[in-house]
Amino acid sequence: MAEQGFRITYATMSADNEELHRLYDQGIETARSWLGKEHPLYVNGEAREGSGYRDTLSPIDGTLIGRFAQGTREDVRDAIAAAKAAAASWGNRPWQERVAIVRRAADLITERRYELAALMAMEVGKNRLEALGDVEESADLLRWNANEMEKHDGFRTEMQPLGSPGEYYDVLRPYGVWAVISPFNFPMALAAGPSSAALVAGNTVVFKPAHLGVFTGLKLYEIYMEAGVPKDVFHFLSGPGSVVGDEIVNHPDVGGITFTGSYEVGMSIYRSFAKDYPKPVICEMGGKNPTIVSDKADLDKATDGVMRSAFGFGGQKCSACSRVYIQRSVYDAFVQQLKEKTEKIKVGNPLERDVYLGPVIDENAVATFEEAAAEARKNGTIITGGERLTEGEFAKGTYVQPTIAEVPEDSWVWKKELFVPFVVVAPYDTLEEAIAKANDTQYGLTAGFYSEDRAEIDLWLNSIEAGVIYVNRRAGATTGAWPGVQPFGGWKGSGTTGKAGGGPYYVQQYMREQSRTVIEE
Ligand code: NAP
Repeated sequence: MAEQGFRITYATMSADNEELHRLYDQGIETARSWLGKEHPLYVNGEAREGSGYRDTLSPIDGTLIGRFAQGTREDVRDAIAAAKAAAASWGNRPWQERVAIVRRAADLITERRYELAALMAMEVGKNRLEALGDVEESADLLRWNANEMEKHDGFRTEMQPLGSPGEYYDVLRPYGVWAVISPFNFPMALAAGPSSAALVAGNTVVFKPAHLGVFTGLKLYEIYMEAGVPKDVFHFLSGPGSVVGDEIVNHPDVGGITFTGSYEVGMSIYRSFAKDYPKPVICEMGGKNPTIVSDKADLDKATDGVMRSAFGFGGQKCSACSRVYIQRSVYDAFVQQLKEKTEKIKVGNPLERDVYLGPVIDENAVATFEEAAAEARKNGTIITGGERLTEGEFAKGTYVQPTIAEVPEDSWVWKKELFVPFVVVAPYDTLEEAIAKANDTQYGLTAGFYSEDRAEIDLWLNSIEAGVIYVNRRAGATTGAWPGVQPFGGWKGSGTTGKAGGGPYYVQQYMREQSRTVIEE
């Protein structure tokens, strides 16, 4: 494993480390030198232009990040054909060789973490620690998936002989071609996790990154190539979801798929992917993640945790906290403290070391924010925030204020995933009532709880419907999972498999069981 240096995770609260920031500043310079160029897509290692190039602009200030080739249906078909042709040799290679290649890729990610983080910050607007966290998580996801193969000896299990002598064993075998479609908000980690699982398992991969986040996806592709993934094993398909994504989803030769993104697209893929016979569909989708704060909570911990989870990366995490239920007797005190902490958040250019909140991803996100703020103004109260920022350094980007609001609980704002820095609060009387409200959602991704009372904690743990849950966590009420520490996956409308990335049941999903009997007599 490469030297880890100053290791940043999502639980890192601050980094007043001069050396880290010096290296990050260098990373910014390197990443800047990459901007403004044309980038092809890659089919079987061949650079292609698709139907032409599309600009990607930075949400920070509209800088041209680059111009990216827009794949056609023909590009996708060619990539799938090449991936299918390569599947047998890759799948039959000793798993140790695949694991070694993926570990090399992890080390390359770690080595380049500052420039990759800086590029990601420019591309999607993450602050320094959030961007470094995403890059470090990517490397750790690769290592986790590689380690799982090794821990299970490549998933070969000896079985009991019966009758004739011979070999009786059970193996997990790859599906063939695996598709990975990733979202903009963790443009490296949510491409790296699924693709490395598919690769160590022995599948070949067709990869489509989100159009916002495409450059970070391309960097991952380059790292895999440099680490030794054969060019016919991994294909980089930039281009629109409606063309490249749609062709991948509907192609009969794709054996399995991992999609991470919105509920709407994920559910349509879940319903349509399997046609002639069943095929595995791993969809990780949205959230409307609740936190409950009891009157037995440490309010300082609770307000820190909610502030970080509601406003970290502008609420644009699937795990963001967007609803808070607070026991009535501590409601005013909690809201006052949360308001004070929120008003101290520094909004600005996320490349600067003391900025916590950068821009939201695009004008659509600003429009969602403004609709929610208008609803709060009309039917409720804005406790703090509620405005777009347009003056001075904010003029060329998509910046909004971190916002806390009271809105009637039957409003759409309590139900819809907003994906902007906007959190709603409401009082409750009994914990049972609060849990029922928290569970009253189509989603079930993450949830948080603050109480110093063990009986309350147990009641909450045993009745909350979500895949990733946290109690009394200052570093994040609902956010900040890490591979090998908090496996990450959703229940209900947040995930299709009930299994979690970075956990003990993940890699197995990329393989199917084969029971082998070879009689020797
Ligand atoms: P999105 O709009 O659903 O896009 C996700 C990916 O799907 C992108 O690569 C997109 O391509 C592609 N796509 C769009 N339409 C498609 C189609 N018809 N067929 C196939 N692919 C298609 O989501 P996003 O805005 O990038 O990401 C935010 C969402 O992801 C939120 O809902 C968030 O909660 C969720 N998310 C979930 C998790 C989790 O682990 N549960 C983690 C992170 C994010 P284009 O970009 O080219 O449109």
